[in-house]
Amino acid sequence: MNHKFLKELEKNIPQSCIKTMEDMSGHTTFRVGGTAHYFVSPESATQIKEVLSLCNQYQIPYFVMGKGSNLLVADTGFEGLILSCGKGFDEISCQDTVITAQAGASLAKIAKVALERELTGFEFAAGIPGTLGGAISMNAGAYGGEMKQVVESVSVLTKQQEILTLTKDMLGFGYRTSEILVKDYIVLSANIRLSKGNQAEIQDKMNELATLRKEKQPLEYPSAGSTFKRPEGHFAGKLIQDAGLAGYSIGGAQVSSKHCGFVINKEAATANDIYDLIQHVKEEVKRKFQVELEPEVKFLGEFH
Ligand SMILES: Cc1cc2nc3c(=O)[nH]c(=O)nc-3n(C[C@H](O)[C@H](O)[C@H](O)COP(=O)(O)OP(=O)(O)OC[C@H]3O[C@@H](n4cnc5c(N)ncnc54)[C@H](O)[C@@H]3O)c2cc1C
Repeated sequence: MNHKFLKELEKNIPQSCIKTMEDMSGHTTFRVGGTAHYFVSPESATQIKEVLSLCNQYQIPYFVMGKGSNLLVADTGFEGLILSCGKGFDEISCQDTVITAQAGASLAKIAKVALERELTGFEFAAGIPGTLGGAISMNAGAYGGEMKQVVESVSVLTKQQEILTLTKDMLGFGYRTSEILVKDYIVLSANIRLSKGNQAEIQDKMNELATLRKEKQPLEYPSAGSTFKRPEGHFAGKLIQDAGLAGYSIGGAQVSSKHCGFVINKEAATANDIYDLIQHVKEEVKRKFQVELEPEVKFLGEFH
């Protein structure tokens, strides 16, 4: 712990927004992970800029996160600062067919606003348990929809602490990636353009997708959703199933038998159990089908 850095942080950011030695298992949907030395929940872009500037000055590594729904934090934690964009940085407003939201707004809340305003186009995202910032950086998608289709522009903070407004065509959206991930930008806010729709139809679509998720996904266990990206020409879940790995466990981590594309925290798994299982699945699928699986999940900290 760098006490000089902490003192400076406390001078510039409200104390209520700063935690130290924070247990990350409470901040990730896998429900695993050790402690982060510093954990800051900013309430404004100015605070984010301030934190970034101090991290640079004191050479403290930092990591930006949303709801931790696509994140595996090591058991040994993170000897740096977590910038947690969530509550307090989650304002949402709506003008005609455009919803403007801060990075920490949850997709579920944005979907609720879209429904109330009778705006269609965001139904696909209603059941993705992340924040707007996380979803834009990952170009999250489901059931034929992707963030790419609805994002009009994004305000980002660069590593050099410049605020830029990037329009859709500057965001380099690809399958579960974007320029934001590549360039380590921090999403501050975004404009989402939707279309006028019919409220009952929007609600029906959201209900239908929620039912599909409940039927097909092991939502009763902690996970980070689909563990792997879809390899070209294949489905990760099918390859894993065909490799005979349904229900395969390492420690408390298991390949879900309900949906083989999900690695779940079946019972008191450690981050290392999950990590080892991911490696094992990759190796087996490579050995049996010569297909390279690439994790969709992001890793933070040291594994083994
Ligand atoms: C049950 C379940 C179902 C899921 N279903 C889907 C699905 O259908 N489709 C899908 O795409 N994903 C799905 N996911 C994965 C996950 O919800 C998405 O990837 C989501 O977009 C991650 O958002 P987050 O806020 O939790 O990001 P985090 O997990 O906190 O972070 C993910 C990445 O985004 C970056 N990031 C977060 N916030 C910011 C920011 N403000 N600025 C810049 N970078 C940022 C992080 O640095 C990290 O690289 C699912 C997860 C679970 C647990």
